[in-house]
Amino acid sequence: MAELEIEIVPVLRDNYAYLVREPASGAVAAIDPGAAAPVRAALERRGWRPSHVLVTHHHHDHTAGCAEIKAAYGCPLVGPRAEAVRIAGLDEGLGDGDTFALGRAAAEVIATPGHTLGHVAFWFAGAKALFCGDTLFVMGCGRLSEGGPEAMWASLKRLRALAEEGRVYCGHEYTETNARFALRLEPGNSALRTRAAEVERLRAAGRPTVPSTIAEERRTNPFLRCDEDAFRAAVGLAGKDAVAVFAEVRRRKDAF
Ligand code: ZN
Ligand code: FE
Repeated sequence: MAELEIEIVPVLRDNYAYLVREPASGAVAAIDPGAAAPVRAALERRGWRPSHVLVTHHHHDHTAGCAEIKAAYGCPLVGPRAEAVRIAGLDEGLGDGDTFALGRAAAEVIATPGHTLGHVAFWFAGAKALFCGDTLFVMGCGRLSEGGPEAMWASLKRLRALAEEGRVYCGHEYTETNARFALRLEPGNSALRTRAAEVERLRAAGRPTVPSTIAEERRTNPFLRCDEDAFRAAVGLAGKDAVAVFAEVRRRKDAF
């Protein structure tokens, strides 16, 4: 299956943009460029030229660099059709079930409403790489800035169902806070303690906590465990349905 070369580009305060190159064709996607300069510098360093700019949702911290990169390299801007009116210069709109071709690699477009209404994730099934913007974070999930808890829970369930070895490339480095919050919910969970220690070690060394894997997220992301009896009991919500548990845990995180 097609391998991809993936470069993590830290931008702004705690955002991640990504460069994804399909080696057989040399096609390169610049994903969620919240600022142009660091993304252009990474492209120059690698000697890559973007064939596409790709965005997961309309927020500025994911799109502010699009116009400059488009202009510098003459490549199209591709993103969620449902947010076309909010993404300046969108050339191609994609929706749920569409395929985005990057050279010989293909990404399935998965609609993941919740953080924003039109948010999409890109799943490269061959390379098993997921670019999920602000829907799923390492040990966390995005705020409900437009959608409700039903929509976000449904989106998270779809991502959770992807191949467990799938690598998770998310839009922010929020992992230390997310780990602290997860431990606040379940202080006795040893898998969480182990992971929180690993996260701390990575950050102390100045390294990103991405990519995570779907398997790790299933085990240690509280927002993916809202239908697990042990989790519901641990957070004092035994017997509640998954959406109610998700809504309450998200509310607690907002106040954390
Ligand atoms: Zn956002
Ligand atoms: Fe964001």
